[in-house]
Amino acid sequence: MPAVPDSQTRLFAVFGHPVRHSLSPAMHQAAFEALGLNAVYLAFDVEESALPAALAGLSAVGAGGVNLTIPLKRRAFELLPRLDATARLLGAVNTVAFRPEGMTGYNTDGIGFLRDLQATAGFSPVGRRICVVGCGGAGRAIALTCATQGATTIALANRTPERSQQLADEVRQQAPATRVELLPEDPASWIDAVRAAELVVHCTSVGLHAGERSVLPPAAFRAGQVVYDLIYNVPVTPCMQAARSAGAQAINGLGMLVHQGAAAFAIWTGQEPDVARMRAAIEPWVRPPS
Ligand code: NAP
Repeated sequence: MPAVPDSQTRLFAVFGHPVRHSLSPAMHQAAFEALGLNAVYLAFDVEESALPAALAGLSAVGAGGVNLTIPLKRRAFELLPRLDATARLLGAVNTVAFRPEGMTGYNTDGIGFLRDLQATAGFSPVGRRICVVGCGGAGRAIALTCATQGATTIALANRTPERSQQLADEVRQQAPATRVELLPEDPASWIDAVRAAELVVHCTSVGLHAGERSVLPPAAFRAGQVVYDLIYNVPVTPCMQAARSAGAQAINGLGMLVHQGAAAFAIWTGQEPDVARMRAAIEPWVRPPS
């Protein structure tokens, strides 16, 4: 890429609301520079009501692609005329490509999770017992991805029971061969199911802020388990601390963020980015909660 953008520079972006803490610009810019691509990646604060206009605007100016984050993923799913299988499965879009035939929505969260889980822990969901704690948007993506990849059992835990019930129904529909266990809403009742799991994926937002206590106590974990906390901007979350104190292997969500970004990059450019460079570009921003 030239030292400054020129008339050939391709625009890529992330839309979200709020978006000012997004690590995506640093991560993608590093990937463009590593490959010598003439491209720039910017963050735009876009409210849900402005999403159709914002997407149409970027399409009209010939942008290369857009990532979507909270709260736009579901709205884009409803809006886009073309969706690939990942977006249809997860009912949400985190990546939009501007194709000659029109805008196409993808979801790279599931593949990002699977790739990092394999790279960091050598773990595949196939034939495994998995517990998903937190059934919001991220928990939904993880549960559906693991189930459709061949997990034997998925246990679902959520503070608000309607959400875990709805997700259980969806998992049963999308992956009939997977056994689904629905845990009651009281976290004290989750301990046995969490301990029994080979993989525990913590998908609540608890731990993002200083002083928050882990939803799961050390007694919920054991040696030999892999515990994956989706929170990516805290090096060691309260859930990870609890898991490690019980001898489990605990990983934060930074690698998932990098791999979902790398998958989006490949969709847009047809090239595989340097994931190590992407990760190195955002690691300085990962700090203990304050
Ligand atoms: P969301 O849709 O708002 O869901 C939040 C989840 O946290 C819900 O299950 C919610 O339960 C639960 N929760 C919140 N406060 C709680 C509390 N005090 N006790 C128990 N449960 C509580 O958010 P999301 O999009 O799923 O994101 C969840 C986390 O995943 C965030 O930290 C996000 O940064 C992270 N994430 C990471 C990546 C990555 O690439 N690493 C990708 C996506 C998301 P209720 O349903 O009861 O409210």
